[in-house]
Amino acid sequence: MPITGRTRLVAIIGHPVGHSLSPVMQNAAFKSRGLDWGYIPFDVEPRHLKNTVQVLLHLGFAGFNVTIPHKTRIIPLLDRLSREARFIGAVNTVQIHKGRLIGHNTDAEGFFHSLRTEGRRSVRGRRVLVIGAGGAARAVAIRLASEGAGELVISNRSRGRGERLVRDLSKAVPRCPAAYRPLTVPSLRAVVPACHFIINATAMGMDKNRPFLLPKGVLKRSHTVYDLVYRPARTPLLQQAERAGSRAINGLGMLVHQGALAFEIWTGKKAPVKVMKEAIIDINY
Ligand code: NAP
Repeated sequence: MPITGRTRLVAIIGHPVGHSLSPVMQNAAFKSRGLDWGYIPFDVEPRHLKNTVQVLLHLGFAGFNVTIPHKTRIIPLLDRLSREARFIGAVNTVQIHKGRLIGHNTDAEGFFHSLRTEGRRSVRGRRVLVIGAGGAARAVAIRLASEGAGELVISNRSRGRGERLVRDLSKAVPRCPAAYRPLTVPSLRAVVPACHFIINATAMGMDKNRPFLLPKGVLKRSHTVYDLVYRPARTPLLQQAERAGSRAINGLGMLVHQGALAFEIWTGKKAPVKVMKEAIIDINY
């Protein structure tokens, strides 16, 4: 659709942002619903985050998505948080309404919808390893605990952030035990065999030529392996999972469902989920 003086604009801010399929997906959704809306990606370094948020507000944007590495840093810049965003402590969707910035989290529902439909195994009572402790990992871990996971193990490169997520999880969902383990090969060798679900919520995997940290031979058929990364579609971790016969799922389904919920928050209209998926599936494979 051509951009005119009346076009409503939304954006995604991240660093990097070039890999994101959200612009193609959201613009296809606007077109299919006949909406004069446009979605623009902006690569925003952390030091420019505060000014960028003010610029989007004053330029009259209807909202924006927030991606790596801004999902937690954005919180103090917002006026209000949805219940879920506050509970999770991370925001991936901002709605601008009457000059106020309202933070939402659609990652948690997007992830869980995808895991439930594509994973087809219940997490109830199961031990889950979540690799990462950033904004996406927070959404995933807190949602899994709320859905009845039996135990969560958080493994992260920086210990402080990993332990903070464990503390927040224990407060948010006290009946689900949670523990931190370092993100090292020996630690993963010890932890993975005892887990049923292995979830990668880090940026590792975006480089398809860099092998994942997981030692050879630890994955089994009984594992469900979910990589939030969707580009490349078969990340090094998912290739390892496929070789082991594990169930391997990439983040494309999560991307579509978190995006559909963001579309509905901004426009107030039902998202064309099928159109959104079809718009990106061929680009991704
Ligand atoms: P974030 O808040 O910036 O967190 C990044 C996480 O990745 C942190 O745990 C960080 O560890 C870790 N990390 C980064 N580079 C690493 C490396 N080289 N080695 C080990 N760990 C590394 O980002 P986010 O928003 O949570 O996103 C995380 C990933 O999930 C990204 O790849 C993003 O594209 C993906 N994602 C996908 C979807 C989807 O819809 N499919 C949705 C959300 C996110 P430290 O704490 O040690 O820095």
